[in-house]
Amino acid sequence: MPPESVSDTNGDERAAPEPDAPEPDAPEPVAPEPVAPEPDDKDWTWTLTRVCPECGFDAAGIERVAIPALIRDAISRFPEVLARPDATERPTPQTWSALEYACHVRDVCRVFTERLELMQREDHPHFANWNQDATALEQRYGRQDPQVVSGELAASGEAVAVAFTHVRNDEWERDGSRSNGSEFTVESLGRYFLHELFHHVWDLKG
Ligand SMILES: [Zn+2]
Repeated sequence: MPPESVSDTNGDERAAPEPDAPEPDAPEPVAPEPVAPEPDDKDWTWTLTRVCPECGFDAAGIERVAIPALIRDAISRFPEVLARPDATERPTPQTWSALEYACHVRDVCRVFTERLELMQREDHPHFANWNQDATALEQRYGRQDPQVVSGELAASGEAVAVAFTHVRNDEWERDGSRSNGSEFTVESLGRYFLHELFHHVWDLKG
Protein backbone atom coordinates (compact mmCIF):
# COMPACT_ATOMS: atom_id res chain seq x y z
CA MET A 1 0.00 0.00 0.00
CA PRO A 2 1.19 3.54 -0.46
CA PRO A 3 2.86 4.93 2.66
CA GLU A 4 0.33 7.74 2.96
CA SER A 5 -2.63 5.39 3.36
CA VAL A 6 -3.81 3.61 6.45
CA SER A 7 -3.57 -0.15 6.37
CA ASP A 8 -6.97 -1.73 6.06
CA THR A 9 -6.60 -5.37 6.76
CA ASN A 10 -10.06 -5.44 8.22
CA GLY A 11 -11.87 -5.28 4.88
CA ASP A 12 -15.15 -4.01 6.20
CA GLU A 13 -17.27 -1.29 4.77
CA ARG A 14 -15.52 2.03 4.54
CA ALA A 15 -16.95 5.42 5.39
CA ALA A 16 -16.64 8.37 3.08
CA PRO A 17 -14.48 10.96 4.84
CA GLU A 18 -16.72 13.31 6.73
CA PRO A 19 -16.37 17.05 6.30
CA ASP A 20 -14.78 18.85 9.19
CA ALA A 21 -17.37 20.08 11.62
CA PRO A 22 -16.59 22.48 14.46
CA GLU A 23 -17.78 21.55 17.93
CA PRO A 24 -20.73 23.72 18.94
CA ASP A 25 -19.27 24.43 22.35
CA ALA A 26 -15.61 24.66 21.36
CA PRO A 27 -13.73 27.88 21.99
CA GLU A 28 -12.72 30.01 18.99
CA PRO A 29 -10.71 29.54 16.92
CA VAL A 30 -11.84 25.98 16.33
CA ALA A 31 -9.07 23.57 15.43
CA PRO A 32 -10.18 21.54 12.43
CA GLU A 33 -10.47 17.80 12.74
CA PRO A 34 -7.59 16.05 10.96
CA VAL A 35 -8.41 14.82 7.50
CA ALA A 36 -9.38 11.19 7.19
CA PRO A 37 -6.64 9.12 5.53
CA GLU A 38 -7.46 7.90 2.07
CA PRO A 39 -9.56 4.72 2.34
CA ASP A 40 -7.79 1.53 1.32
CA ASP A 41 -10.38 -0.86 -0.04
CA LYS A 42 -8.07 -3.74 -0.89
CA ASP A 43 -8.99 -7.20 0.35
CA TRP A 44 -6.13 -8.44 2.50
CA THR A 45 -7.14 -12.10 2.80
CA TRP A 46 -4.33 -13.02 0.37
CA THR A 47 -1.97 -12.46 3.29
CA LEU A 48 -3.20 -15.80 4.67
CA THR A 49 -1.35 -17.64 1.91
CA ARG A 50 1.48 -15.32 0.86
CA VAL A 51 4.23 -13.47 2.69
CA CYS A 52 3.31 -9.80 2.98
CA PRO A 53 5.81 -7.95 0.75
CA GLU A 54 5.57 -4.86 2.93
CA CYS A 55 5.92 -6.06 6.51
CA GLY A 56 7.40 -9.49 5.69
CA PHE A 57 4.96 -11.37 7.92
CA ASP A 58 4.29 -14.97 6.86
CA ALA A 59 0.84 -15.75 8.25
CA ALA A 60 0.71 -19.13 6.49
CA GLY A 61 3.64 -20.36 8.53
CA ILE A 62 2.08 -19.63 11.91
CA GLU A 63 1.34 -22.57 14.18
CA ARG A 64 -1.92 -22.43 16.14
CA VAL A 65 -0.17 -22.80 19.46
CA ALA A 66 2.06 -19.81 18.70
CA ILE A 67 -0.82 -17.36 18.21
CA PRO A 68 -1.18 -16.10 21.82
CA ALA A 69 2.56 -15.53 22.28
CA LEU A 70 2.82 -13.70 18.97
CA ILE A 71 -0.14 -11.48 19.89
CA ARG A 72 1.64 -10.56 23.13
CA ASP A 73 4.88 -9.95 21.21
CA ALA A 74 3.17 -7.47 18.85
CA ILE A 75 1.26 -5.70 21.62
CA SER A 76 4.42 -5.34 23.70
CA ARG A 77 5.86 -2.97 21.07
CA PHE A 78 3.27 -0.26 21.64
CA PRO A 79 4.21 1.27 25.02
CA GLU A 80 7.54 2.42 23.53
CA VAL A 81 5.80 3.72 20.42
CA LEU A 82 3.25 5.64 22.48
CA ALA A 83 5.97 7.13 24.69
CA ARG A 84 7.67 8.78 21.72
CA PRO A 85 7.60 12.59 21.99
CA ASP A 86 5.96 12.80 18.56
CA ALA A 87 3.39 10.04 19.21
CA THR A 88 0.49 12.41 18.64
CA GLU A 89 1.89 13.93 15.45
CA ARG A 90 0.96 12.75 11.99
CA PRO A 91 4.08 12.22 9.83
CA THR A 92 2.03 13.54 6.90
CA PRO A 93 -1.48 15.03 6.91
CA GLN A 94 -2.91 11.78 5.50
CA THR A 95 -1.01 9.34 7.72
CA TRP A 96 -2.22 8.33 11.16
CA SER A 97 -0.08 9.27 14.14
CA ALA A 98 1.28 6.53 16.41
CA LEU A 99 -1.52 7.41 18.82
CA GLU A 100 -4.19 6.94 16.16
CA TYR A 101 -2.66 3.61 15.08
CA ALA A 102 -2.59 2.46 18.71
CA CYS A 103 -6.26 3.39 19.19
CA HIS A 104 -7.05 1.42 16.03
CA VAL A 105 -5.07 -1.63 17.20
CA ARG A 106 -6.76 -1.47 20.63
CA ASP A 107 -10.15 -1.57 18.90
CA VAL A 108 -9.07 -4.26 16.42
CA CYS A 109 -8.19 -6.46 19.41
CA ARG A 110 -11.68 -5.92 20.84
CA VAL A 111 -13.38 -6.64 17.49
CA PHE A 112 -11.41 -9.84 16.92
CA THR A 113 -12.12 -11.05 20.47
CA GLU A 114 -15.83 -10.61 19.74
CA ARG A 115 -15.52 -12.40 16.40
CA LEU A 116 -13.64 -15.31 17.95
CA GLU A 117 -16.20 -15.68 20.73
CA LEU A 118 -19.05 -15.49 18.21
CA MET A 119 -17.49 -18.30 16.14
CA GLN A 120 -17.17 -20.42 19.28
CA ARG A 121 -20.75 -19.72 20.37
CA GLU A 122 -22.67 -19.90 17.07
CA ASP A 123 -22.53 -22.03 13.93
CA HIS A 124 -21.46 -20.19 10.74
CA PRO A 125 -21.99 -16.66 12.13
CA HIS A 126 -21.80 -13.47 10.08
CA PHE A 127 -19.61 -10.89 11.77
CA ALA A 128 -21.20 -7.55 12.58
CA ASN A 129 -19.82 -4.89 10.32
CA TRP A 130 -17.16 -2.65 11.80
CA ASN A 131 -16.40 0.61 10.07
CA GLN A 132 -12.91 1.45 11.24
CA ASP A 133 -12.75 4.89 9.63
CA ALA A 134 -16.05 6.00 11.14
CA THR A 135 -14.88 4.66 14.50
CA ALA A 136 -11.64 6.65 14.27
CA LEU A 137 -13.61 9.85 13.64
CA GLU A 138 -16.33 9.18 16.21
CA GLN A 139 -13.86 8.23 18.93
CA ARG A 140 -11.53 11.13 18.09
CA TYR A 141 -8.51 8.89 18.08
CA GLY A 142 -6.14 11.84 17.63
CA ARG A 143 -7.34 13.50 20.83
CA GLN A 144 -7.06 10.52 23.17
CA ASP A 145 -4.43 10.35 25.91
CA PRO A 146 -1.44 8.22 24.81
CA GLN A 147 -0.86 6.88 28.33
CA VAL A 148 -4.49 5.87 28.73
CA VAL A 149 -4.50 4.28 25.28
CA SER A 150 -1.31 2.38 26.17
CA GLY A 151 -3.07 0.79 29.15
CA GLU A 152 -6.24 0.06 27.19
CA LEU A 153 -4.26 -1.53 24.37
CA ALA A 154 -2.31 -3.71 26.82
CA ALA A 155 -5.63 -4.88 28.28
CA SER A 156 -7.42 -5.55 24.99
CA GLY A 157 -4.32 -7.26 23.59
CA GLU A 158 -4.03 -9.52 26.63
CA ALA A 159 -7.75 -10.31 26.43
CA VAL A 160 -7.53 -11.50 22.84
CA ALA A 161 -4.35 -13.49 23.61
CA VAL A 162 -6.18 -15.22 26.46
CA ALA A 163 -9.21 -15.85 24.22
CA PHE A 164 -7.00 -17.65 21.68
CA THR A 165 -5.32 -19.59 24.50
CA HIS A 166 -8.73 -20.98 25.41
CA VAL A 167 -9.61 -22.26 21.94
CA ARG A 168 -10.17 -26.01 22.23
CA ASN A 169 -8.70 -28.44 19.71
CA ASP A 170 -12.14 -29.10 18.20
CA GLU A 171 -12.86 -25.38 17.72
CA TRP A 172 -10.06 -24.35 15.34
CA GLU A 173 -12.05 -25.31 12.23
CA ARG A 174 -15.27 -23.56 13.26
CA ASP A 175 -16.16 -20.95 10.66
CA GLY A 176 -17.63 -17.50 10.24
CA SER A 177 -17.86 -14.86 7.52
CA ARG A 178 -17.28 -11.17 7.17
CA SER A 179 -19.66 -8.60 5.70
CA ASN A 180 -17.76 -8.66 2.39
CA GLY A 181 -18.22 -12.46 2.12
CA SER A 182 -14.69 -13.50 3.13
CA GLU A 183 -14.83 -16.73 5.11
CA PHE A 184 -12.64 -17.60 8.05
CA THR A 185 -12.01 -20.45 10.40
CA VAL A 186 -10.96 -19.75 13.98
CA GLU A 187 -7.42 -20.64 12.91
CA SER A 188 -7.35 -18.39 9.84
CA LEU A 189 -8.96 -15.58 11.83
CA GLY A 190 -6.08 -15.83 14.29
CA ARG A 191 -3.44 -15.82 11.56
CA TYR A 192 -5.16 -12.94 9.73
CA PHE A 193 -5.36 -10.97 12.97
CA LEU A 194 -1.67 -11.54 13.67
CA HIS A 195 -0.72 -10.13 10.28
CA GLU A 196 -2.81 -7.05 11.01
CA LEU A 197 -0.98 -6.53 14.33
CA PHE A 198 2.49 -7.00 12.87
CA HIS A 199 1.66 -4.92 9.81
CA HIS A 200 0.79 -2.01 12.08
CA VAL A 201 3.98 -2.56 14.09
CA TRP A 202 5.76 -2.30 10.75
CA ASP A 203 3.78 0.84 9.87
CA LEU A 204 5.15 2.36 13.06
CA LYS A 205 8.61 0.80 12.80
CA GLY A 206 7.89 -0.41 16.33
ZN1 LIG B 1 1.92 -6.87 6.10
